[in-house]
Amino acid sequence: MQHFKIIFIVTVSLLHITNSCMNEDNTKDNQIKNKSNEKKIKDLESVNKNKEQKELESVNKNEEQKDNKYVIESIVDIQSLNSKIKIDLKYATTDNFMKIKLYNSINRAYLQKDVAKRLSACQEYLETINPNYSLLVYDAIRPVSVQQKMWDALDSIPPDERSKFVSNPQNRSNHNFGAAIDLTICDENNKPLDMGAGFDDIRKIAYPSYEDFYLKTGELKQSQLENRKLLRKVMKSQGFENITTEWWHFNACSRKDAIKKYSLLMYENQISTTNE
Ligand SMILES: [Zn+2]
Repeated sequence: MQHFKIIFIVTVSLLHITNSCMNEDNTKDNQIKNKSNEKKIKDLESVNKNKEQKELESVNKNEEQKDNKYVIESIVDIQSLNSKIKIDLKYATTDNFMKIKLYNSINRAYLQKDVAKRLSACQEYLETINPNYSLLVYDAIRPVSVQQKMWDALDSIPPDERSKFVSNPQNRSNHNFGAAIDLTICDENNKPLDMGAGFDDIRKIAYPSYEDFYLKTGELKQSQLENRKLLRKVMKSQGFENITTEWWHFNACSRKDAIKKYSLLMYENQISTTNE
């Protein structure tokens, strides 16, 4: 009996050791697998990054080959499609975050024709909700040259931080293609609705992603949030997407699609005066 007991204990111990070795092996295996997966993901990310970089480089090259007098025919003055849409182009005045007039000749809001049509439909939808309300556009198409001016003016901020406030002109912005709009809603007296933060306000209270937080602290009022929600509802009715950091900015499509579909505005003089 004693003999059996010893054999039993030895067997159980051996089994235990084997099991824990196997567990350890499994853990090691998993760690190796995880590491190899991480490497694969990193490799994939770097391949994608290189691909994106190459795409951008080729777009840049094409642009360089174009004469800067090349006029973009596909854009329209949005008020020529719908005169009820109001404009207050902040970069055509000194009333902007840089406090200087950035546009020399642009004094109307231009978008790609199909984007402008969608915006016009948004205005019509807004009127069905409140006939006294209008869309008020702060910025539409914006040349790369002006994007560069904004970027250079903020040169005291490191590039990584800077891109939170202004898109790196090298990477382009949907605005450069006439595929993004900065706007709000105004009443019949042209008074913008209270959104709890102004246009180009870089504080987090302007971030749609922080609305719940500021609602809780009481810094953002429910009525202000309702106004933002109304703007988003109207814009989303035509497929415009908002971003997480600016309540006023809406994209008509992704940047990749904009690069594929639309001509890029490098300079202000690429806008035809016959459009005006
Ligand atoms: Zn914008």
